[in-house]
Amino acid sequence: MSEFHDYLIVGAGLAGASAAQAIRELDADGSVLMLGAEPLPPYHRPPLSKGLWLGKDNPDDIFVKSAEQWQAFGVTLRLGDTVAGLDADSKHITTASGVRIGFGKLLLATGGTPRSLAAPPTLAGRIHGLRTLTDYHLLRSLAHDGSQVLIVGAGFIGAEMACALAAQPGVSVSMIFPGAAPLARILPPSLTQVLVERYRAHGVCLYGGDRVAEFSPGQRGITARTGRGEQIEADWVLAGVGLDLNLALAQSAGLAVDNGVRVNARLQTSHDDIYAAGDIASYPDPVWGEAIRTEHWDHAQASGRTAGRNMAGADEPYTHQSMFFSDLFDIGFEAVGTLSSQLEICADMADQDKGVVYYLQDSQVRGVLLWNTWDQVDAARELIAARQLVTADGLMGQLG
Ligand SMILES: Cc1cc2nc3c(=O)[nH]c(=O)nc-3n(C[C@H](O)[C@H](O)[C@H](O)COP(=O)(O)OP(=O)(O)OC[C@H]3O[C@@H](n4cnc5c(N)ncnc54)[C@H](O)[C@@H]3O)c2cc1C
Repeated sequence: MSEFHDYLIVGAGLAGASAAQAIRELDADGSVLMLGAEPLPPYHRPPLSKGLWLGKDNPDDIFVKSAEQWQAFGVTLRLGDTVAGLDADSKHITTASGVRIGFGKLLLATGGTPRSLAAPPTLAGRIHGLRTLTDYHLLRSLAHDGSQVLIVGAGFIGAEMACALAAQPGVSVSMIFPGAAPLARILPPSLTQVLVERYRAHGVCLYGGDRVAEFSPGQRGITARTGRGEQIEADWVLAGVGLDLNLALAQSAGLAVDNGVRVNARLQTSHDDIYAAGDIASYPDPVWGEAIRTEHWDHAQASGRTAGRNMAGADEPYTHQSMFFSDLFDIGFEAVGTLSSQLEICADMADQDKGVVYYLQDSQVRGVLLWNTWDQVDAARELIAARQLVTADGLMGQLG
């Protein structure tokens, strides 16, 4: 007979960990197995691009629980083994090591893999992504005094890592990105300008509105020739160009997949006994109803929790309006809802380093950015959930 577990969690990241904890809240006896491709128990990823570089966090302290604590908690971990196959009809998975395991309920929480950059094979060892603690340790070993780094992309990973690397003694940092400024897709120009000034003040060389056309071997190791004809020399490159979702299992099992694994408000996939949470889940927005996907820590935690509770029989909708956060030099921000520079933007700033930005669509607040403004996340959630028609004047002074 093959192994069987009442609850099987595929992906030992934050969503998987939250689900395991939530299952145990409602079912003390059912067997829970969490399978993870990484060799480590679940940990928090935000410190990998922030606190670990700045001496604010310690690698030993970022774990949700230690392996021993998971065992004592009644959750079995099988780490360093990838789930290679999922048969939804017979409710079995198969691991890369050849083990076949049956399940009662299954959670897919497989997250994503950093997108790589096209380069000659001989340069593959000079281009890195950042997703795991193992990646962090590798980058840390490469970021030594005298090293020269090129960051490609200025989304969250690129923007945060430029701050982290610029803070390392003797590391020189360049960043190239197609937009006008770092985080230009979500921030208004008045705030991206603040960031540009901060990067320049910290010695980061910015190549905005440009792309890498080609990598070739160079004096220092790797040379990037850009679309505008610049040559950037580096010892290594950090690719911050987004995530490819790990959807292969869901696809091979015939589950509905569009911009992620499609789930209903209970976080149930197109198969009643299979749930999805975290970065891979395409779920109904709790306020607007449209399908969205969210690649953030708070959503991974909250959606994992709801999925776990529902797997254990709770039958609860996922109503959490997730928030996200980032730290860039001395600027920290929290945000709720949709931040897009395509939306109508109303800024209520005390000065350029502190304030609130509202993102409107059809005169309704879709997103709120709290720029160095704290303890306002719940108020921002309420404002969005109210779905009221607003005016720019009426919003001034609402939060902050
Ligand atoms: C460097 C970094 C910094 C971040 N900073 C912030 C931040 O400041 N604020 C914020 O809101 N969010 C941040 N995030 C995003 C946040 O961490 C993610 O949204 C969250 O970790 C997603 O959790 P998840 O459980 O869905 O996926 P993951 O954390 O990716 O976990 C998925 C796990 O599943 C495993 N897996 C995949 N396929 C298989 C398989 N077939 N079999 C077994 N295991 C498998 C993977 O190896 C991985 O361990 C950051 C992310 C990174 C990488």
